[in-house]
Amino acid sequence: MSSDNNTRPIRYIVKVLSTDMAGNRAGDFEFTEPIPAYLVCPSPPEAQTKATLAALSMKYHDEIMRKRIWKCWNCEKNAVSMVHNPMCYLHQLNDPSVVDLSLGICEDRGRCEVEGRRFFKEKMEAMQRAFPRYDHSSCNPTITTMSSNVTTRPINYIVKVLSTDMTGNYVPDITYTEVIPANIICPSPPEYESKVILAALSMKHHDEIMRQKSWRCWNCEKRATSMLHNPMGYLHKVDEPEVLDMVLGICSGGRCEAEGRRYFAVQMSMAQQMYGNR
Ligand SMILES: [Zn+2]
Ligand SMILES: [Zn+2]
Repeated sequence: MSSDNNTRPIRYIVKVLSTDMAGNRAGDFEFTEPIPAYLVCPSPPEAQTKATLAALSMKYHDEIMRKRIWKCWNCEKNAVSMVHNPMCYLHQLNDPSVVDLSLGICEDRGRCEVEGRRFFKEKMEAMQRAFPRYDHSSCNPTITTMSSNVTTRPINYIVKVLSTDMTGNYVPDITYTEVIPANIICPSPPEYESKVILAALSMKHHDEIMRQKSWRCWNCEKRATSMLHNPMGYLHKVDEPEVLDMVLGICSGGRCEAEGRRYFAVQMSMAQQMYGNR
């Protein structure tokens, strides 16, 4: 969503270890993703790396779910979600990648999910015994899931579209319940991890919001072909954490997008003057 020159493309590879309902395994799904360039190094910093891995899993979770009718890895039912186990290979400087092992699960927070997390934990421990070199702490594989109550917490992700649809009507706020890593919900959320999660939330729902209406550009009469996001985290409100994403429809011309970015920059600096640098 935001442009940052200091990124480097990596390969993000999803291996779904369970089958679809017909019993077939899917091949790997591979995406090219820009990530902050400084994470590609012999010893990537742990917190930032984990946040990036979690954001990658979150970003592609729905898309992978839609690719097939997946079966639960542990029973005969349909999978309704997946447990992810992204492994970091960012220390491989000539071919940095993240390999996300995923398992379909039939029920959020159910027995098959618990078993799935145990499966990954045992697999990772066996791998570390077999390849002790892999176990440098900063580049540890982490287990993330969309629905764990151990490492994640639900928040409200609220989208306010500030521009109208093509008929000139404003749309009420759109609210999603999303789970994010629990450790960034605290009185002073870590800046980098928060930014990564905020960007991942915007990316995750971008296409869906675009499809909800025929949106108009905020700055001219044309139809919007994309949207600018300005997600604001209220993750320091530990009792009621939320993310408020201000969104503007933009046309393809380029000028309205530039004006939109300026609009958000002015809004943010005004807010900071009024409420302090929070
Ligand atoms: Zn199951
Ligand atoms: Zn426009």
